[in-house]
Amino acid sequence: MQSKQRAADALDKAVYFLDRSLAPKQKVRAFQRAKLVVELLAEDELLQRCTAGTLTELEGIGPSSASVISAGVLEQQPEYLTKLDASSQVPVGMGEELRSQLRGDCHVHTTWSDGGADLADMVRTAEALGHEYVVITDHSPRLTIAHGLNPERLEQQLDAIDGLRQTAEITVLTGMEVDILEDGTLDLSEELLERLDVVVASVHSKLAQPAPEMTERLLKAVSHPLVTILGHCTGRQILGTQRAPSQFDALAVFELAAASTTAIEINCRPERQDPPEDLLALARDTGCLFAINTDAHAPGQLEWQSLGCDKAARYQLSAERIINTWPAADLLRWSRGRGALAG
Ligand SMILES: [Zn+2]
Ligand SMILES: [Zn+2]
Repeated sequence: MQSKQRAADALDKAVYFLDRSLAPKQKVRAFQRAKLVVELLAEDELLQRCTAGTLTELEGIGPSSASVISAGVLEQQPEYLTKLDASSQVPVGMGEELRSQLRGDCHVHTTWSDGGADLADMVRTAEALGHEYVVITDHSPRLTIAHGLNPERLEQQLDAIDGLRQTAEITVLTGMEVDILEDGTLDLSEELLERLDVVVASVHSKLAQPAPEMTERLLKAVSHPLVTILGHCTGRQILGTQRAPSQFDALAVFELAAASTTAIEINCRPERQDPPEDLLALARDTGCLFAINTDAHAPGQLEWQSLGCDKAARYQLSAERIINTWPAADLLRWSRGRGALAG
């Protein structure tokens, strides 16, 4: 393998571990930038600079990325990576058995919206993690800050997924994380919603709406026949810039979700951990289905499913109520013709 390839592989690993530990974006970007700098170097210059320790003279390469590149190129013990790997491990606790029963992830972003890796990378990583399927759910148009897909770009993405299916070893399902607008309607036409395999509906705006309005908004969304999963139901953020959970009549929403067989998402993102534990218990006792989703925006974050599995195991959710344990064909039968399977 050539030096440049070894350097790129080592930097990719660093990015993977950093994303897995929810490192600040600028830290991840520093390694991505270093990768671009390495791509432009000649093979012999790269080798020379690694040997002489002069990589940091180049604009865009700092001490950490230089150490990762050198270790990769010179095939030395990559101390920085070894430490990063250890410190970013996702703990697997009592959810281990459940994790082994999961077949896929139903909430994954790519560079088509605000993800940090392209479609092929996300699918490859899902495959490497042993998933049988992955659902691609980029943002809908109204979420402009996340570069949400308008109908034309969604069409293009559906074509890209079709193309990828020719070579992917796992099943790639289409989907979208569709915004639940203020009045409870969805940010995508029925025609397009109908073409998707799985629809995650989430609130991303006006999260502090008064409870009666938020309740109406969520009731409308969970009873929509084309909504498969209610994403991160309270919208809270418990790490970094914190955000209080949205207030709504959770019992009413979960009862209607259960009656409509719309799954409640157990969102595995460490800064979300939605639903909060009291609501998870309520959704369990109300008879809801669940989806354990990573909401990954980068390959390393696809490993977060274990966190949701731990929580589900702690709350004794049975595997059959968790849609990710179903074979892709059953998942599709349910999402496409709701109620037939779950009853
Ligand atoms: Zn979201
Ligand atoms: Zn998302």
